[in-house]
Amino acid sequence: MNAQHGDTSFGDTSYGDTSYGDMTLSVHGGNDTAGPSIRTPITMANSYHLPPEPEKLDWSDPDHLIYTRNTGANQVALQRKLALLEGGEDALALASGVAALHAVYFTFLATGDHIIVSDTTYEATWKLWTQLLPRKYGIEATFVDITDLDAVRAAVRPATRMITAEVIANPTTKVADVAALADIAHTAGALLVIDSTFTPPPLYRPLADGADLVVHSLTKYINGHGDAMGGAVIGAAEHVSKVKAEAMVDVGGVISPFNAWLISRGSITLPLRLAQHQASAMTLARLLEADDRIAYVCYPGLESHPQHELAARQLGGRGFGGMMAFALRGDPATHNRFVSHLTVITSAVSLGHDESLIVHVGTEGPRVAAYPDGFREFGHLRFSTGLEDADDLAADLRQALDKTFG
Ligand SMILES: *Cc1c(COP(=O)(O)O)cnc(C)c1O
Repeated sequence: MNAQHGDTSFGDTSYGDTSYGDMTLSVHGGNDTAGPSIRTPITMANSYHLPPEPEKLDWSDPDHLIYTRNTGANQVALQRKLALLEGGEDALALASGVAALHAVYFTFLATGDHIIVSDTTYEATWKLWTQLLPRKYGIEATFVDITDLDAVRAAVRPATRMITAEVIANPTTKVADVAALADIAHTAGALLVIDSTFTPPPLYRPLADGADLVVHSLTKYINGHGDAMGGAVIGAAEHVSKVKAEAMVDVGGVISPFNAWLISRGSITLPLRLAQHQASAMTLARLLEADDRIAYVCYPGLESHPQHELAARQLGGRGFGGMMAFALRGDPATHNRFVSHLTVITSAVSLGHDESLIVHVGTEGPRVAAYPDGFREFGHLRFSTGLEDADDLAADLRQALDKTFG
């Protein structure tokens, strides 16, 4: 788009036609190449030229290039691309995944409302709904095992305004049936908000299965290179514009132009990277599962995963992502020794990067309730399969196991 002042149309790219394939959209989608360069420039500006009669502007307009807290040129380019990739009408990019989650809760929920939350969630979602939002906003949350659809139905109340879950949950890889949850939410007159961070497009598009809003931590697979943070909300224009107006302009939490540019750049190779992430994850999950020093492996691609069939059906044979959780037959000190012996795989939080990442998480925490039993007994290692050669990753895991148990 030629980001002229006053041009508010976000869908006018020649790649707004979603009949293009995933690779084409990942390369060209959203780019702003109206200037002399064939690449989208980085616009490091916090303000834009005002029109001749600025007093006629709505200063809270989230679609005008006025001030970077309203929107910025690189943010616009990234949003257009994300909308195309997810198959949504509009998208909003914010400073982090958690800012995006909070923006959705803040916009659509108010005191006295009720939300149903999956009992297995990302740490910050858990903390928001166990501690912060009920106390500060007076919104009630019920945690439910979302694989038990009768339990989800039973948790619906007249005040229920939202159901939220992750497609493949961080950290236990519990899988949500998005179409079934959408039915329950819509029957109740509630919104279904899906955190799809573990299953970015083209692996999965929750909007096509009835989700109302999709949230991503762009920090993870979509950027993919571990060098920027961001979050996104994608869905119908009616919903996304509400989030922009209520939770971006007047609350803040905007993405920096440089991070928006980095994430647009990183996402160019998303389909290629995903293919490699999940091919290696499948190989390594099988290898670990066959090793009797391993207590359990949770990976939706394994037949032993309790929602393997649901994952296969829902993800339509496109794969199972690059995330798994596993544990050694040993105590926490054994797990820490194992991690200290790894030489290719990096011990750090975050996930979906080019480099493989592992983090040892203890046995505590209700957010790993219910599945599988081993989470309670052994704790777990959350493993993000990177883009290194699968043979090198396999050798690294094997030598660290040998040293740990040797
Ligand atoms: C990391 C993560 C988030 C939070 O994203 P940030 O960019 O770290 O704020 C939310 N949901 C899931 C599933 C995540 O893995």
